Amino acid sequence: VREAAPPAKTAPEPKRTVRLTHPDRIYWPEAGVTKAGLADHYAEVWPLIAPHLVGRPLALLRCPDGIDGQQFFQKHGWKGMNGRILTPQDPGDPGESVIAIADLDGLLGLVQSAALEIHPWGSTLAQIETPDRIVMDLDPGEGVDWPQMIAAARDVRERMEQAGLAVFLKTSGGKGLHVVAPLKPQAKWPAVKAWCQSLARAMAADQPDRYVATIAKAKRKGRILVDYLRNQRGATAVAPWSTRARPGAAVSTPITWEELGPEIGPAHFTVLNLPARLAAVTDPWADFFARARPLPKG
Ligand code: ATP
Ligand code: MN
Ligand code: MN
Repeated sequence: VREAAPPAKTAPEPKRTVRLTHPDRIYWPEAGVTKAGLADHYAEVWPLIAPHLVGRPLALLRCPDGIDGQQFFQKHGWKGMNGRILTPQDPGDPGESVIAIADLDGLLGLVQSAALEIHPWGSTLAQIETPDRIVMDLDPGEGVDWPQMIAAARDVRERMEQAGLAVFLKTSGGKGLHVVAPLKPQAKWPAVKAWCQSLARAMAADQPDRYVATIAKAKRKGRILVDYLRNQRGATAVAPWSTRARPGAAVSTPITWEELGPEIGPAHFTVLNLPARLAAVTDPWADFFARARPLPKG
């Protein structure tokens, strides 16, 4: 009698059909992460990242020679692009085409095209004028330490929760933090931008020694920029689970509010240490879109 196979712990990996050329090409030299390693990362996070990528306009940071070579920030298709990458029309702006993917092969097409960062819009092609998430991008000015960043993220969370939103957190994989809230896609871009701007301005008005709401470099020294400008039509923010084209192969990683502390810096999680985390903890953003609320009034 044949023994039954043990039940699979996880769903089988979706089939990959995109052929990677030069899979051994090194994209992150000191971390030793190759193109094949990047493809493995995205195959592993596919079920988590898919809702944040599929059917949305995407901007890509392409680095054909890895993070130390030339970088191209691209919002439109290009000649020789992998065939699994789509270039639909912007439904609200006929004549403009955008970059999009529909499936894991599309994501692997982005890997084949050396997309080392993936930056989606905050709305889907299906409802392009009404965003389904807000991202408050916290950028430390010169001299700002990590405890100040932690306090800032908590301040943003409190204000957004007061307004009735469900509030999620991720490392940027760079220098800062992203505080993100899912929205019911009802309010249009200008209203969403205005709401985010007033939140940022209120923080800067209440604690001018800690926060600024304007990009002006001179004002940012020692302060945190509450960058609300990710929340306008055509603006992008790096996707959760996207890699960054920076040393160390950091990944913009969802964390819980309980995890926010001195041990986890903005570039703590990387392509190299993320598999252990994924095996050990459940996705802190598992109910992200299920907890969407309408844009608060006022
Ligand atoms: P950090 O925590 O270091 O601030 P970040 O992702 O928040 O990381 P940046 O990498 O500085 O911030 O990018 C800011 C925003 O501008 C991103 O959300 C991205 O979508 C967009 N962006 C990034 N690179 C370019 C570029 N070369 N051209 C235009 N827009 C860009
Ligand atoms: Mn930032
Ligand atoms: Mn910013």
